Amino acid sequence: MGPILASLLRLQEIEHDMAHVRRRLRSKENAIRVVQQKIDELTTRRRELAEELRRQQARVDQVDLDRASRDEEIEHLRGALNRARTNKEYAALLTQINSFKADNSKLEEQILATMEGLDKAKAELEAIGAHVEAEEKRKTHAAEANAGEVAKLNAMLDELRQRRNEAAAAVPHDVLANFDRIAGNRDGEGLAPIEVVDAKRNEFICGGCYMGLSAEHYNALLSKDEIRHCDSCGRILYIPAEAASKGS
Ligand SMILES: [Zn+2]
Repeated sequence: MGPILASLLRLQEIEHDMAHVRRRLRSKENAIRVVQQKIDELTTRRRELAEELRRQQARVDQVDLDRASRDEEIEHLRGALNRARTNKEYAALLTQINSFKADNSKLEEQILATMEGLDKAKAELEAIGAHVEAEEKRKTHAAEANAGEVAKLNAMLDELRQRRNEAAAAVPHDVLANFDRIAGNRDGEGLAPIEVVDAKRNEFICGGCYMGLSAEHYNALLSKDEIRHCDSCGRILYIPAEAASKGS
């Protein structure tokens, strides 16, 4: 293999390694992100619940005010009852008192029911608070555990970048641009090996797309450091060491 194709192959291998390191970095970041999402969800729920609690508490306070004002009314009516002069007046006042009392016992039931809901919501709020705290701890631990690994992966990436630049420097600009363009369209695979199916019958395929290749590509690359493209997928072809021995 000529020096240009050899450099391109090295470039492709280095880029594979870089992609692998980047994936590992992403998975580390994802682990943290998943916990953060959980925390965000819980925080939203906590805010909604706190708001709901405030509304419910305001409702209880309002109903309690109504009840207190009816209680005052009842006290007032009781005074009037004692001063009643006729049976009819007495009976009317009594009816009024009983009606207010009935109203108030309904309001009390309402208050009790709401208070029950409030207690539940308060308990849930506390549970969410504890959950958020636990998730925050989990996130801190994960970040601490990841820190070493992330630093190592970033150092690896820096080194690969350096090696990539070195390999790229050995390739003419137009060839490099061509390779980058194909690699960009082909999932990082700018190069494809020629696979020898049967050298005697001149049967070759592209290792990138598995379509047949003319023997001309193979024969030319045996002797020349040339940029030749697969007729089907457009990848730059090279002869891997094992195919060179098989073909000769
Ligand atoms: Zn191909």
